[in-house]
Amino acid sequence: MNNCPSCGHERSKTETRCPACGAFYPTIAELLAEEEAYEAAHSWRGRWQKIWGATDRKQAVLEECKQFWTGLSLTGKFSLFVIFVFVFALIVTVL
Ligand SMILES: [Zn+2]
Repeated sequence: MNNCPSCGHERSKTETRCPACGAFYPTIAELLAEEEAYEAAHSWRGRWQKIWGATDRKQAVLEECKQFWTGLSLTGKFSLFVIFVFVFALIVTVL
């Protein structure tokens, strides 16, 4: 990261604060913690742990599904839809 994360001003390696906007640059430890939090929020293991740890599991599952759906791209939604239709057609023809 060579620029200030809040204003985009070019940063030097020795400074801990941005000279333009005064914001503190994130340290390596902060960046790692952020990455870990992101990983926990977006990986299946993290999701599972969140659902498992929630008091209202049904609500947690619904919340995760909603997040998963909004995080999905249009092509992702489309392919899921195609799979769903394909499985449905298969079941209907078999029955
Ligand atoms: Zn700045």
